[in-house]
Amino acid sequence: MKSIIQDLNFNQIKELTAACGQPAFRAKQLYEGLTQGKDISQISTLPAAFKQKLLEDFEDCAIKILQTFEGADGTKKFLFELADGNIIEGVLMAYKYGNTQCVSTQVGCRMGCKFCASTLNGRVRDLTSGEILSQILKVNAAYGGTREKRAVTNVVLMGSGEPFDNYDNVVTFLKNLTDGDGLNISPRNISLSTCGLVDRMYDFAEEGIPLNLTVSLHATTDEERARTMPVANKWSIAEILKACDNYFAKTGRRYIFEYSLIEGENCDKRHAEELIKLLKGRPCHVNLIRLNEVKERTLKATDEKSAYRFLGFLEKGGLSATLRRQIGSDIGGACGQLRASYIKDD
Ligand code: SAH
Repeated sequence: MKSIIQDLNFNQIKELTAACGQPAFRAKQLYEGLTQGKDISQISTLPAAFKQKLLEDFEDCAIKILQTFEGADGTKKFLFELADGNIIEGVLMAYKYGNTQCVSTQVGCRMGCKFCASTLNGRVRDLTSGEILSQILKVNAAYGGTREKRAVTNVVLMGSGEPFDNYDNVVTFLKNLTDGDGLNISPRNISLSTCGLVDRMYDFAEEGIPLNLTVSLHATTDEERARTMPVANKWSIAEILKACDNYFAKTGRRYIFEYSLIEGENCDKRHAEELIKLLKGRPCHVNLIRLNEVKERTLKATDEKSAYRFLGFLEKGGLSATLRRQIGSDIGGACGQLRASYIKDD
């Protein structure tokens, strides 16, 4: 595979343009074209010879939308093809306040969570920063968005992959996504979800990107967490909470816990009480979601009534919590489901 030009920020594009012997205004045209979601060959303002030179070193198309699935509730799910033929997936969800795109950070995942479809075949490779960014550039363009008036207003790093297992590329992606010369999406409109790689949580607190840090908790004790999340053998819940508090101290941003309700596993009254004990008084929010059942997995979702009962316990205990509506479940909404079924049908 050649290099991915969307890995570069505006300054690097300026240097590249100068190195190609082109006048400075060509850098602006190139960067604008890329920000509009165009492939190199599609940027009509650039001279053919310059494009040809770029194509010696860079892929023309970092990523293309291979298929789009539209759910009954307006959710759109995408299969993307990377330049090396790998397949990743993403989702665009319409909310009252705008459109949230969920991006993947790796092809597959090696964290091994028992409920997740992304990790079924392990990690294939990391995505480059430009491959993560291009998911948004392409979807924004596909829905008529521009740099000034974006079709994608919010971004969540909750697709396939563990963002902090691809730390450097994810940080570069976030810097480029929030850059005033690029799409200029505010960190406040970005959520990053991690399974809890504590050392990276400390590193990230120093990056100066005050986004919504989200941790997948899914259990109230280390022993129970380790039953579904192997990462619990490496980092304890106590260590995670300390790292979250450090993030709050450094950024002023409250943090969020994801808690997927799994029948018979984590949603009894006892679990609610333990969760309240762990989290009460902390600057955090709990996002409950009923497990999206994955056909390759045996774990079952709790029913809706029990989910609301669990939410009620948390609220009565003084926690800030919401039960997320399940969206896009008719189109393989859960992480990695679509890619898994695409690869199998192949
Ligand atoms: N690797 C990151 C981000 C990926 S997934 C992380 O672990 O946080 C985004 C969220 O969806 C995580 O909280 C993950 O645990 C959860 N998730 C994965 N599979 C799920 C499923 N089948 N049903 C419900 N939530 C799921």
